[in-house]
Amino acid sequence: MTTTLITGANKGIGFETAKQLVELGHTVYIGARDTERGEKAAADIGARFVQLDVTDDASVSSALARIGSDEGSLGVLVNNAGILANEALDGPAALRAFDVNAVGFVRVTEAALPLLRKSANPTVVTVSSSMGSFWAVTNPDRAEYRMPLALYAASKAAATMLTVQYAKANPGIKFNAVEPGTTATDMTAAFGIGRSAQDSAKVVVRLATLGVDGPTGTLQDESGVLAW
Ligand code: NAP
Repeated sequence: MTTTLITGANKGIGFETAKQLVELGHTVYIGARDTERGEKAAADIGARFVQLDVTDDASVSSALARIGSDEGSLGVLVNNAGILANEALDGPAALRAFDVNAVGFVRVTEAALPLLRKSANPTVVTVSSSMGSFWAVTNPDRAEYRMPLALYAASKAAATMLTVQYAKANPGIKFNAVEPGTTATDMTAAFGIGRSAQDSAKVVVRLATLGVDGPTGTLQDESGVLAW
């Protein structure tokens, strides 16, 4: 039985990923910063809830300690929690964007590494974004070219780079970043765009269920490898 932790999994793409991995037989921990929302989401799909705010070191370490004492190892970590951070372009907004989208990855991954190393096929998926691809945002043929989401794009570029650096430093663990596809969630509600979270979660699930010889250090979308 594979134990899986997904951050920010009380709704959206994270929740649908949790649902699909439960259906595949994983023991899934829904990491959510809000206890009520997290417990409800976990109960809805037969997952477990663990309180986890990716901006709070104490919350992260107690979440991983709980999984360690209950399960002994962690097979899959999905770093999914993210914010758009488009309310302002100033110092506090930049700190918030990087705290959740990039520093959160470091906090959770560092706390999870000892448990990942105890798994037979450890896999980390970063739900990043093609908005963090230099290739996409400088390519006039791509929709990302016309999206002025500076803090989101820069913090997702950082998340993708962290994924690559962790892959290089940890050859026994697969680390891949994914662009799940434009999805209708609370994050994109103001734009009225995107497909269902169920469809986008399939892209995340594919990278979360790679075999031992699967790729590492890549950025992918549903068509395969995405340019940096
Ligand atoms: P969403 O529905 O807004 O979900 C975001 C999740 O992150 C929520 O569960 C939220 O929890 C959680 N979160 C935010 N801050 C957190 C924190 N400090 N600690 C723990 N959890 C936190 O958005 P989504 O579209 O599903 O986004 C999921 C991921 O996909 C994000 O990383 C996003 O950047 C990425 N993505 C989305 C799209 C898209 O088109 N939607 C495209 C590319 C990439 P609360 O409910 O407590 O706020």
